Amino acid sequence: MAAPLVEVKSISKTFNRKARAAGGSSIHKALDTVSFTMDRPERIALIGPSGSGKSTLLRSISGLHTIDRGQGTVAVFGRTVQSNGRLAGDVRKTRADMGLIAQQFNLVGRLSLFTNVALGFLGKISALRGLFGLWSADEKKKIMQALDHVGVAAMAGQRANTLSGGQQQRGAIARAIVQGAKVVLADEPVASLDPVTARKVMKLLVDLNEREQVGVIVTLHQVDYAKTYCDRILALKDGKIVYDGPSAGLDDGTLKDIYGAEIEDAYWGETNAH
Ligand code: ADP
Ligand code: MG
Repeated sequence: MAAPLVEVKSISKTFNRKARAAGGSSIHKALDTVSFTMDRPERIALIGPSGSGKSTLLRSISGLHTIDRGQGTVAVFGRTVQSNGRLAGDVRKTRADMGLIAQQFNLVGRLSLFTNVALGFLGKISALRGLFGLWSADEKKKIMQALDHVGVAAMAGQRANTLSGGQQQRGAIARAIVQGAKVVLADEPVASLDPVTARKVMKLLVDLNEREQVGVIVTLHQVDYAKTYCDRILALKDGKIVYDGPSAGLDDGTLKDIYGAEIEDAYWGETNAH
């Protein structure tokens, strides 16, 4: 059997918070023995109230955060990303197959959209060739195809910082396509977008999963989006997984437990109020 795309085993992450007033520090467990496995390319929505540990979990999977020492391990495509609080020596190589998409500032503002997407090749070609923009005809074709696929080919020559938020997110998805990412980790990729644009970007993530067989883990504010666009939901509360199952199985009672008084906001999202 092929190795799971993502395997997170019993990871914890503790932050030391400096309590300024008291002059001391407190310890905060942002992740508490979290485990889950993605065996095949799924679309997993990571939900939970603000501060529940969603970003910390994504950053731990990509190796941007080291987890606490102890039993925890993270492996992607069967390759260890980190274990016992230490990153694997070849974590860069593993990360080259992961696409990372954030809420904002995914692209280098002063570079063209084309060059930003071309940077997806950087893990695979020499940095020097990338630095001078020496893309082969085949690479250029792949870049333009990816831009065309996400609907922003006409803006290829435009500086990234002149693009709208939605166009930038499309560019970030195009970069993941060019990169040949097998797993995409997206942290609130639609949080800054208007509802219409947000839905279009969510559909592109669905398409990436279905067409390219990419495993997608996406943190979302809105439970509505999680249910509509993802097949599986992982819900975090206070650093613990409180639901892991099919989107359809997440009932209102569980949602109330997870979100408490914030439930209405969580369901529809601030930008999508009815
Ligand atoms: P979410 O993405 O679900 O809103 P986060 O993963 O960003 O939550 O944060 C989880 C908890 O960890 C929060 O209480 C947050 O304050 C804390 N935290 C996150 N990053 C840091 C950090 N770099 N230093 C200290 N505490 C942090
Ligand atoms: Mg977050």
